[in-house]
Amino acid sequence: MKAGPGLLFVVSGPSGAGKDTLVEALRERMPRLRYSVSATTRAPRAGEMEGEHYFFITRAEFERRMGEDGFLESREYNGNLYGTPRDYVERTLADGYDLIMKPEVNGALRIKEAHPGAVLIFLVPDRFSNLRERLLARRTETNEEIASRLEIAHQEMKFIRNFDYIVVNEQGRSEDAIRDLQAILQAERFRIHRYGDDSLKNIELT
Ligand code: 5GP
Repeated sequence: MKAGPGLLFVVSGPSGAGKDTLVEALRERMPRLRYSVSATTRAPRAGEMEGEHYFFITRAEFERRMGEDGFLESREYNGNLYGTPRDYVERTLADGYDLIMKPEVNGALRIKEAHPGAVLIFLVPDRFSNLRERLLARRTETNEEIASRLEIAHQEMKFIRNFDYIVVNEQGRSEDAIRDLQAILQAERFRIHRYGDDSLKNIELT
């Protein structure tokens, strides 16, 4: 039975909460799940691949695309621009594929405005101090950048009530968080309002 357009899952939460690692693990387990690659003006980190982790573009190019309404949402974060390309999201959902993305918190809220049916999941560490440890451990940011990301994280936590789900990524127990995310995605697919009227009529008749 076809359940109409795909579902949009938005995993957000402060930098260092583990979004990248958990979403990657989830995608490995759910191969049909599509992923929205964002555009950014940030320089690639070691190991980051064009078109896989991000589309790395100049600020001028980013602004040009913004002028063409090419982003579903975009945001300046810590001195760099990040945006969700509109076309890919609309096309993928219309084709019936479920889609996952991982913007920062403000972006997640903008996505919900554009797609009220989107499922917003807030990922948090079990302790706020773990954010700092994780950011330090991955050695991709300077101390100033880490301090700034922690300040932003503090602000982001205030929006937790606007989300649909909370998943706690407990230190050393990421397997549990992956399982929780997977459970949310699976359960959302069975919600009555996801089924079109025709599908429901068919069920009623059988
Ligand atoms: P990072 O530089 O660590 O890759 O990302 C910085 C922050 O930007 C993270 O919180 C990440 O989730 C967020 N981010 C990545 N892509 C997008 C996007 O397309 N839109 C928004 N609003 N935030 C994004």
